[in-house]
Amino acid sequence: MSAKLVYMFDEADASMRKLLGGKGANLGEMTRLGLPVPPGFTITTDACRYYSKHGEMPAGLMDQVRAAMTKLEQKMGKRFGDSSNPLLLSVRSGAAVSMPGMMDTVLNLGLNRETLAGLVKSSSDERFALDANRRFIMMFADVVMGISKKRFDALFNEQKRALRIKLDTELPAAALKTIKNDFLALVLTETGEGFPGDVWRQLEMSIEAVFASWNNDRAIVYRKNEGIPDDMGTAVNVQAMVFGNLGDDCGTGVAFTRDPATGENGLYGEYLMNAQGEDVVAGVRTPQPISSLKTVMPAVYAEFVKVCDTLEAHYRDMQDLEFTIERGKLYMLQARTGKRTGPAAVRIAVEMVGEGLITRQEAIDRVSASHLDQLLHPRIDAKKLEASGVTPIGSGIAASPGAAVGRVYFDADTAANHGETEPVILVSDETTPDDVHGMLASKGVLTVHGGKTSHAAVVARGFGIPCVSGCEALDLDEEALTASLGGQLINEGDWITINGSTGEVYNTKLDLVVPEVSGNFEQLMSWCDAERSLSIRANADNPRDAAQAVAFGAEGIGLCRTEHMFFERDRLPIVQDMILTEDEQQRQAALQKLEVVQQTDFESIFRVMDGRPVTIRLLDPPLHEFLPSYDELVREVTELRLAANVLKGTALQGVLDDKVAMLKAVEAMREANPMMGLRGVRLSVMLPGLVAMQVRAIMRAAILVKGKGIAVNPEIMIPLVGHINELKTVQSQLEAVAKEILDAAHIELPYKFGTMIEIPRAALTAAEIAGTAEFFSFGTNDLTQMTFGYSRDDAEGRFLQTYVDRGVLESNPFETLDQAGVGRLMELAVSEGRAARAGLKCGICGEHGGDPKSIDFCHNLGLDYVSCSPYRVPIARLAAAQAALRANGAKAAKGAKTAKGAKAAKGAKTAKAAKAAKTDS
Ligand code: PEP
Ligand code: MG
Repeated sequence: MSAKLVYMFDEADASMRKLLGGKGANLGEMTRLGLPVPPGFTITTDACRYYSKHGEMPAGLMDQVRAAMTKLEQKMGKRFGDSSNPLLLSVRSGAAVSMPGMMDTVLNLGLNRETLAGLVKSSSDERFALDANRRFIMMFADVVMGISKKRFDALFNEQKRALRIKLDTELPAAALKTIKNDFLALVLTETGEGFPGDVWRQLEMSIEAVFASWNNDRAIVYRKNEGIPDDMGTAVNVQAMVFGNLGDDCGTGVAFTRDPATGENGLYGEYLMNAQGEDVVAGVRTPQPISSLKTVMPAVYAEFVKVCDTLEAHYRDMQDLEFTIERGKLYMLQARTGKRTGPAAVRIAVEMVGEGLITRQEAIDRVSASHLDQLLHPRIDAKKLEASGVTPIGSGIAASPGAAVGRVYFDADTAANHGETEPVILVSDETTPDDVHGMLASKGVLTVHGGKTSHAAVVARGFGIPCVSGCEALDLDEEALTASLGGQLINEGDWITINGSTGEVYNTKLDLVVPEVSGNFEQLMSWCDAERSLSIRANADNPRDAAQAVAFGAEGIGLCRTEHMFFERDRLPIVQDMILTEDEQQRQAALQKLEVVQQTDFESIFRVMDGRPVTIRLLDPPLHEFLPSYDELVREVTELRLAANVLKGTALQGVLDDKVAMLKAVEAMREANPMMGLRGVRLSVMLPGLVAMQVRAIMRAAILVKGKGIAVNPEIMIPLVGHINELKTVQSQLEAVAKEILDAAHIELPYKFGTMIEIPRAALTAAEIAGTAEFFSFGTNDLTQMTFGYSRDDAEGRFLQTYVDRGVLESNPFETLDQAGVGRLMELAVSEGRAARAGLKCGICGEHGGDPKSIDFCHNLGLDYVSCSPYRVPIARLAAAQAALRANGAKAAKGAKTAKGAKAAKGAKTAKAAKAAKTDS
């Protein structure tokens, strides 16, 4: 590999992110902006990709590194490995997308016996030099040689205990010398070859370790969760060390240009005086708020504020910064676009539009579906809390917003196990990158140590889960699996509630509520509405969900599953009567009762929807779903029969008889493939009384509500149609009933008649179907099931996850629409359906209607609307706007290209003509 693999910072800029990683590109950009960045260079992601592929460093890489080191030495006026004034380095990873704490860093690289003596001399501070050395040995051994940091911490803490010392900074030089020797001895026994003394060897090994860390377990887990491609690779940044721990005029910190939790415009961050890099985020010492730097070092603070302003204006986004102060001089170590919570993302985007920094379209682009998801996160129901009199048992730092309720588990592995089946709160001293899998499986995280920039806080915000950190009063006993807070004992498995917006902790299960759309959120939503062309509807089966959907901005109901009205407790016995009776009169009586309750439900829904379209789907599931489970009945009957002797003459004998009768009925209705059995439109064909009942209830409700002066807009939808004749059969039954009712009421009430497209045959014969159906609604849950031949009830639990893990499928097709297969059927149905019926309304009501990627596809397909669960309505509004902006952007880019192409072609033609003319003459 002979390509250029190493770039000095002053050769780089922000556009080189893919090649140099985000950190490297931004260090280059900051250097170009003239900001105080310690010099250094970046090794490209190409080199990492080569390493991942071949398992060795690219040939010639270290020659390029040596050449860059020569330039670095010149800039610094120091030499690497020098025994009087040594140049020390930091070696950090930095991928094109930020992966906080997932990969490794080595600081103070370049120390050995000789250079340590040199550092003592050049710093005139033996204690500092020894401290830098012990940190280096520990980091290098951990990251490069694979000896756990915990082993070194144990030796370090042993010394502190022996000397009865609390703070690291109180350790005298003599103790640090002992620690150094202990550390080196540990490395020798663990590796058998000792710590490398050659500084060039140290550098090479560290670079290789960063490349290797791209594929460590935690990085892989993180990438999978965040959808980051595995072949992106990381760059390596090698930078001259500056020291924040040379005394009281030194320090180090992290800051955001706006509050990453709330979005408030103002510097936000923490720093520690006389400390080195990792001390701030490690949560070992409690850092100071950045505002106090103003009094401690006013000039440095003023310069820092200026740098922050420059960077925010330059990048036009909130920045996450790392800095070090060495002997009163400010150095910027990193600038990157800051990760933020959902509320912060919305506030920052909206306020930056107000400040003229970005456009509305950019604001829409800056907010992601998961940001909105967080904004819609539950919070504690304040009214219920007040009424209950429950008070917090303690509090920590509000590190990631929203409230979470769950059972307590004290380590990541246990939390990950339990997280599959129950809500979990991970409670621990602090978290490390090794705990990420447990955090992912948890509803929330509570830690004893750490601030808002601790690992737990940063990762929880990234995942959008609530976090309370720094709850110092929480006394953890990890052996006994208990904790106590505010005098209350918490055992493993106990319920707690944490409020990541206030930091409060409750030792009980509290009720949570979801916030409404207002303020900045509402503003952003209104901008989205102006951009999108897709309508957004909701899947709602009752007035409560319908009202929530309208509050979130739904423009109609795209799917009202009427069977859900059947499942309500007081109705189930009526439904069962209707199914089980063999007497026609009794069946009609049961249907009559159902009609009354359905009519009431429809009235309420029409009222709430106030003229917006309401798509009501006639009964869909197989009837046995309303009856007790077959397996359960067999078990009960068997048990009762075994006890038959004892039961004789008791009331339980009657129970047995009833159960046997029910078992017989259920048995008679059993199907080998119920999902492909008597359900959907087939039920309507087989039981016309059911259709008549539902249509009567819909039309009577509509007439009643309209009579009260409220507009109604019903759309009746037939599920699971596969053949046009099914639809025609139901249509004639349905229209006769509707006509009868409307005629009797002497009222005109337009309604639409349409179908779901959820069986491949329906999509393939869309032209025929559109002759009868006035609208199509894609039921992509069933359409996916039937197209793949995967049982939607079984596949996810059995093999789909493995398919995704092994790359057989890119994603779960029940979550993200399979565009190549299911999408192709949709495309065909839309184009042939619209060719047969101009302006045929087409929508989607499967789960994919709330998935941003699928919404993008639906936009490009030219659907009229997407319908999703009420809580996803704001996300769908955002995704629909983003899809429209993307499509317009792509169109504009294509237009520009075509125009350029045409001009070039014209140019070529003219030149050719001129040439021809010339030849002619
Ligand atoms: C579908 O199949 O996509 C659909 C919306 O219907 P259900 O999930 O009720 O089968
Ligand atoms: Mg369906």
